Amino acid sequence: MRFETAAIHAGQPPDPTTGSVIVPIYATSNFVRTSIDQTDGYEYSRVSNPTRAAAETCLATLEGARYALLFGSGMAAETAVLGLFKPGDHVVCTRDVYGGTVSLMNRIAPQRGIQVSYVNALDPQQVADAIQPNTRMLWLESPTNPLTYVLETPALVEIAKAHGLLTVFDNTFATPYLQNPLQWGVDIVVHSVTKYLGGHSDIIGGALVYNRDDLHDPLWDQQAVGGGILSPFESWLLLRGMKTLAVRMRAHCENAMAVARFLEEHPKVERVLYPGLPSHPHHERAKRLMRGFGGMVAVYLKTDRAGVNRFCTGMRYFRLASSLGGVESLVGYPATMSHSSLTPEERAAQGITDNLVRLSVGIEHIDDLIADLDSALAAL
Ligand SMILES: *Cc1c(COP(=O)(O)O)cnc(C)c1O
Repeated sequence: MRFETAAIHAGQPPDPTTGSVIVPIYATSNFVRTSIDQTDGYEYSRVSNPTRAAAETCLATLEGARYALLFGSGMAAETAVLGLFKPGDHVVCTRDVYGGTVSLMNRIAPQRGIQVSYVNALDPQQVADAIQPNTRMLWLESPTNPLTYVLETPALVEIAKAHGLLTVFDNTFATPYLQNPLQWGVDIVVHSVTKYLGGHSDIIGGALVYNRDDLHDPLWDQQAVGGGILSPFESWLLLRGMKTLAVRMRAHCENAMAVARFLEEHPKVERVLYPGLPSHPHHERAKRLMRGFGGMVAVYLKTDRAGVNRFCTGMRYFRLASSLGGVESLVGYPATMSHSSLTPEERAAQGITDNLVRLSVGIEHIDDLIADLDSALAAL
């Protein structure tokens, strides 16, 4: 089964009891047993539920994996990974990660006696140098948020493997349509399915996807015993979203490329970062590792903070809101939104300046999107 077909059919045969073409929402907490000795089948919906199972099978297939577990949010999935470690363990995390991951590493990990070191994973030597005798995990994310930098993940995984580390990769921005990190030797792929996988900005959910049998029992415990599961209704919305992942991602990539090209030529734009542009510092790497360049574009505007505010609030289609990956276009302001928890010095060190905006380019008609950006730039 090819990707587009799996997105529609994997884990989704017609319902055996009714022939329903679409997997039903099994809105039930429990399932009747056939005997007191029954050991197979569904039992209780925290532990397993048919709608969730269908979505898990579909997502696992899209990532080329044996297992997927769905959680009530991307952060619940990430917290489940942290549950694999014990006090005294140390983890290495790339500095340019999702803000919630930073909060998890800074606030939850220490409560559990887990130490964290941040590195700039664009420099593999920094990763190697940060590994200690008690290091257990390397956490990666690429393309990065908001600057769309692309890591040399296969080389980083090799370093981690040489030291026996578990490698975890947040694939939210690229989705399995554009890259499959498990093929690079990554052990666990993390997704916020809130974003492109759901695709319609109507659910919060997360996933862990992996191949290793020895990880299944401990991670399944984190889901079924930890209890942070995705509901049947949201699993169903996710199934519906994933069916169009391929067509949506093609449209996101095409529109983002056109937006990036337009902005790069615009006199009121200082710099555009999009992995599809030849000017991007990791364009060649992105071409080698990814099947497309995604829908996220970082833009440095030639204006002051007031001008940035006019730009962010003055558009008709690009709405100023958190999150990304939905069919509708969004604009975000990293300094006060995704990266507000960093100090001004930390932001400056990461290139998150006061004139930086982040676009999540949707799948509206490209002419409308360009006209929207053009008139907002004219008003700077
Ligand atoms: C949104 C996001 C998360 C967290 O997911 P939630 O569903 O909001 O909990 C993690 N990683 C990345 C890259 C994200 O964009």
